[in-house]
Amino acid sequence: MSENAALSDELAESWRLACSGQSVVALSRAKLLFKRLQDSGDDRAIAACLTQIAWFCLQLGQAEHGLDCAYAAKRLWGRCEDTSGEVHATAIASWLLLEMGLTEEAFEEADRALELAERQSDPAMLARALNAKAIVLMYSRQPELSGPLLDRAMDLVEMHQEPGLMALLLINRAYGQVTSAEMAEFEGDAEAGRHWRDLAVDTNDAAIAAAEASGDGWNLRTALCNGAEYHVLLDRPEQAHDYLGRWAGVAGEPGLRERIHLLYTKGEVLTLTGRLAEALEICEQAVALADGTTHTDHQANAVRRLSDVHEAMGNFEAALALHKRYHGLYERQLSEVTRRRAHVADIRDETSKLRAAAERLAEEAAHDGLTGLSNRRSFDQAMLGLEGTEFALAIVDLDFFKSVNDLFSHVVGDAVLRQVGALLATHAENGVQAFRLGGEEFALIFPQDDLDSAARHCEAIRAEIAAVDWQALGEGLTVTASIGVATGSNGSALMSVADGRLYDAKAAGRNRVVSMDALEPRYGITG
Ligand code: GH3
Ligand code: MG
Ligand code: MG
Repeated sequence: MSENAALSDELAESWRLACSGQSVVALSRAKLLFKRLQDSGDDRAIAACLTQIAWFCLQLGQAEHGLDCAYAAKRLWGRCEDTSGEVHATAIASWLLLEMGLTEEAFEEADRALELAERQSDPAMLARALNAKAIVLMYSRQPELSGPLLDRAMDLVEMHQEPGLMALLLINRAYGQVTSAEMAEFEGDAEAGRHWRDLAVDTNDAAIAAAEASGDGWNLRTALCNGAEYHVLLDRPEQAHDYLGRWAGVAGEPGLRERIHLLYTKGEVLTLTGRLAEALEICEQAVALADGTTHTDHQANAVRRLSDVHEAMGNFEAALALHKRYHGLYERQLSEVTRRRAHVADIRDETSKLRAAAERLAEEAAHDGLTGLSNRRSFDQAMLGLEGTEFALAIVDLDFFKSVNDLFSHVVGDAVLRQVGALLATHAENGVQAFRLGGEEFALIFPQDDLDSAARHCEAIRAEIAAVDWQALGEGLTVTASIGVATGSNGSALMSVADGRLYDAKAAGRNRVVSMDALEPRYGITG
């Protein structure tokens, strides 16, 4: 098996593991793979691996680390000019930012993902980008805006048979419906609230079915836990209990975030059914588990539920103490958001610095420092790019340039080169390209293979060079150029014909353009 095939097999395997709910194993595999790839220079493979790590981090509640990976992946996908990859990494970055409470930054990323996705034809990527933007809108409490985006994403998924994505979209659709319910209830419209909550349960049930059908354990656990919460809020603890029972039966090891979510949801169900002693135990477990993480939001969620249990038990002192702790955590969460915002700004700043440095290097690599014209390297690339098409090439060589240096100094020689460079640059339009090949040798590429017109153009350039008032640079200075022109479709053949004609121009007395082969033998002495 080739290296590449083995690699994509490994990536597919960790993805499959994560999809079947085994994100912990998937993450450690992807990290091992990343270690191996790190120095390979294979940008695409590294980007694919980092995109996966970012996603697994999202699943496991390691948002900050995930974001670093998502940004690195984005950068690499961009470098490989792989828009699908970039959309995927950008959409994941958006969810991670949301996890971190950075709604505005998340919104920008989601917008960017959608903008990129709309420009190309990958329905799965477009669905992911629509989903990313919908989630941000939902968190910003704009369910009426997010709904249509998710509907469009679901249509795409259905049309293009991407069953793996359906569960995720439905989970988010249901969450949006719950948000609508909360907003209606806040406005005092209990009936509308109830309507939205019923809808959310149905949508979430569809998500459960879709996740089961596609063997997607991670989304299945999320949907079951969400479903339990939705039933609790509808005062249906039996159904909620039933969902949580099914949760335990899902294959694969759940992540920490999922376990905390499960525990406090269980605690809520038990509180509601009056099984307070069990609720207390479960919520204490949730708090202990959350305290072991660095995630203030998990801690806050768990502590609030534990406080509720104590309140239901009449332990008001304990409930109050926990409530104060909840409040403290809530405040800390706000300051964490600020710290995270600074971190994200740093990464972005670094990204733009890196991009600027890369652009500068590319610019330097392609241009000649003295004249600013494209250099030999760019010339070789341009010639390669034209291989097989008919075009014209001219080689321009300054006459007796060695004497310019000898008689007027290198400084003057350099000034002459710069001025000739600037003059040639003014001719680089309508597809004509100018290069400095090295020393006092330049080249022009004409996009058409019309020898006469290229020769006429070169004659104009020759005359212009000769007509410059070179006296300004040194008294008695004159500068002329000899030019050899050729047409054809093979780079190296063209080079040698143009070179031969340049030699002929020199031999014939310099300061001239030659575009035809000499009738006499080239190296013979003519009278
Ligand atoms: P010919 O008419 O036959 O082309 O004569 P020539 O003197 O121009 O030919 P030759 O190739 O022998 O000399 C080129 C000179 O260009 C030699 C070198 O000193 C000078 N040269 C090359 N690069 C630079 C540069 O960057 N700056 C300056 N000032 N001189 C350079
Ligand atoms: Mg010369
Ligand atoms: Mg020369």
